[in-house]
Amino acid sequence: MSEPSRLPVSVEFFPPKTPEGVEKLRAVRQQLYGLKPEFCSVTFGAGGSTQEGTFNAVREILADGVSAASHFSCIGATRETVRAQLATLKSMGVKRLVALRGDLPSGYGAGGEFHYASELVAFIRQETGDDFHIEVAAYPEIHPQAKSPSGDLQAFATKVRAGANSAITQYFYNPDAYFRFVDDIAALGLNVPVVPGIMPITSSSQLLRFSDASGAEIPRWIRLRLQSYGDDTASIKAFGLDVVTGLCEQLRAGGAPALHFYTMNQSVATLALCERLGLGG
Ligand code: FAD
Repeated sequence: MSEPSRLPVSVEFFPPKTPEGVEKLRAVRQQLYGLKPEFCSVTFGAGGSTQEGTFNAVREILADGVSAASHFSCIGATRETVRAQLATLKSMGVKRLVALRGDLPSGYGAGGEFHYASELVAFIRQETGDDFHIEVAAYPEIHPQAKSPSGDLQAFATKVRAGANSAITQYFYNPDAYFRFVDDIAALGLNVPVVPGIMPITSSSQLLRFSDASGAEIPRWIRLRLQSYGDDTASIKAFGLDVVTGLCEQLRAGGAPALHFYTMNQSVATLALCERLGLGG
């Protein structure tokens, strides 16, 4: 009997802001390349603040001979600026984009010619045909600004019908929300892979802060266990590794097509998870 094929993984980074951060990310990337990721993605700061950083990190990944995905947010952008950025990405050899609306940093006004990620996806397809594989964001626990759960599902469908090839989810710790989302989009006739975004748990305060902002629910039992460890980071990490390994196992058993790791520019937690899951490379 042949071995079941290995679940593909991808990893996500953010553009470092300092020369030390750039050096550190280089080392982290080398460690994570051992996982043979399908691609490495780099986030794209809203308001244009880190766009050059994104492009620089993407260039380095491509120069390492690894497939890179550039995140691309459109809030505050015009057709002209998006057209110019697409041309730059194409000339760099980028083949995969994660197309997003993005969030405006507080203090910025609205403005811009794009309101939703679906408009960006449609524009990219119109301007560049099939040059890019387009990923979009999915929210199994519902985007925090959605008017209603069904409206959010329709918004996702609009992105797919505009030309998205696949999706990566916001992170979550309730696998049922993911399986329900996958069933719901299948019922709408959408046939795109939805890859779970996995956030390793390494720190209690950081996780609670991010989750408040992104709308990802931390189940009560996880939150209380984390809080009970106080400053005992070793216990937090050990517990986090157990919980997230279990989550990934359930996702794999339930048919998730791949796993996308939010690395936060750290290698240790993602490597430990993949090791436990037998995805160590
Ligand atoms: P959209 O799909 O446009 O949805 C935004 C909101 O508008 C939702 O509430 C939706 O229900 C609603 N909506 C959509 N269309 C309509 C419509 N026609 N009518 C009414 N309501 C509508 N942010 C960054 O700044 N940089 C990044 O690199 C980045 N990477 C990310 C990667 C992933 C995998 C994920 C899950 C998120 C990422 N984000 C990033 C965060 C993302 O930008 C925010 O969650 C943002 O608030 C929504 O972006 P979106 O592309 O999902 O927006």
